[in-house]
Amino acid sequence: MKRTALTARWVVGHVDGSHRLFRNGTVVVEGTQVLFAGHGFDGEVAETIDFGDAMIGPGFVDLDALSDLDTTVLGYDNHPPELKGRVWPQSYMQAGPREMYTPEELAWQKRYAFTRLIRNGITTALPIASLFYRAWGETAAEFDAAADAAADLGLRVYLGPAYRSGNLVVGTNRKIGFHYDDARGFAGLDDATRFIDRHENTHGGLVRTMLAPDRIETCTPELLRRSGALARDCDVPIRLHCCQSRLEYDLVVQQHGKSPLELLRDTEFFAPSTVLPHGLFLSGINGITHEAPDLDILTASGAALAHCPLVMARSGKVMQSFPRFRDLGVTIGMGTDTHPPDMIQNMAVGMMTARIAEADATTVRATDFYDAATLGGADALKRPDLGRLAAGCAADLNVIRFDTPEMGQVIDPIQTLLLNGSGRDVSDVMIAGRFVMRDGVIPGVDAAADRERAQAQFDRMVAQYPDRTLFHPPLEQIFPPSYLLG
Ligand SMILES: [Zn+2]
Repeated sequence: MKRTALTARWVVGHVDGSHRLFRNGTVVVEGTQVLFAGHGFDGEVAETIDFGDAMIGPGFVDLDALSDLDTTVLGYDNHPPELKGRVWPQSYMQAGPREMYTPEELAWQKRYAFTRLIRNGITTALPIASLFYRAWGETAAEFDAAADAAADLGLRVYLGPAYRSGNLVVGTNRKIGFHYDDARGFAGLDDATRFIDRHENTHGGLVRTMLAPDRIETCTPELLRRSGALARDCDVPIRLHCCQSRLEYDLVVQQHGKSPLELLRDTEFFAPSTVLPHGLFLSGINGITHEAPDLDILTASGAALAHCPLVMARSGKVMQSFPRFRDLGVTIGMGTDTHPPDMIQNMAVGMMTARIAEADATTVRATDFYDAATLGGADALKRPDLGRLAAGCAADLNVIRFDTPEMGQVIDPIQTLLLNGSGRDVSDVMIAGRFVMRDGVIPGVDAAADRERAQAQFDRMVAQYPDRTLFHPPLEQIFPPSYLLG
């Protein structure tokens, strides 16, 4: 098998269970795997590629990988959600919710999103998209297309259409309530089961599957119970948004008389690989006064948190706190969950918000977040072959340029990366031994044309807002310009 040596000023290798920095290091790739990472390889290689003043490191594992056209901008300055079209009016629910994108647009968006993930150095992705724009759940058809897109682009993925049994609705009295449709939830689970049968471990192992029940408050206890049992039976990861918002926590307590984590425990939801975005609201944390043994349940469950600090900080929320979970031994992986799907920016914001949450700069280090974005994600998926560069591991890596003025000065590449780097500094990405991006170029992708197409789809979607917004105000009233138009 052909061996390729990759060299750079910095290589992040892996020795005795932790990352290790090698100055002027070498990574040797053979087939789909790493053969060697470190100093002093003395075997034959067919080719050597020197990246110069750059860092070769393990690819990022994104547990909540943005996979649609992000709509954060619609809620950035426009509040409250129920008056700005971000909670379905009761009338819309009753009329029968509809898809806001065509099947072709949905399939294309997955592919487009995958190119953005690769552009940012992400090599393993568990896609997440908003169900807010959907008639109900995600479809198996768009995920069939997503499997093809991932295989074609070379992105490592865990795929599963999201499903749910309920949705938030708002009445004309502005009260937020719930609409449940159990049959729809079970039908979604059936589709997801068939999807696992068709796609698990295909395309040379690049495409894996998972179960993606939407959010704890949009799933009935029976759907949670069946989902957990299926994840254990099929031995696939299961991901559920939980401990994400105050509203979610309060709703679950109101409806079930127990906390979100108590509900997961009591429905036997937990599987060997359980991923919970976002770990913000637990008993005694972030203003939750309801008493429940949430921290004990979390640590006993072995579930991993998907930490997405950028999207949360944008709405004023921070994890309370990263060092608390870390010190309890909870696995913490990272997710992008918003645009830009920039893991480097997420690490930087995670570092800042953790220090703010603790009012102490000494409680987290840059390595905590670099570990979370690589090893944490791999541990969450029970994949000791991912998130690290060592002999026998998958050849999933990214190359980050350090020779730009933007990157500033370096005494240590990880610290400089979190201070000055961004996803735009990723130049090359390899997944399973294949370069999926070289020198900023993803083969077959016209990024400028794609951006235009994405904007056109977004414009058509936004135009449908008045119809789905309480009291149907005109578009200019839902999304007023930042300044008066001159
Ligand atoms: Zn999320």
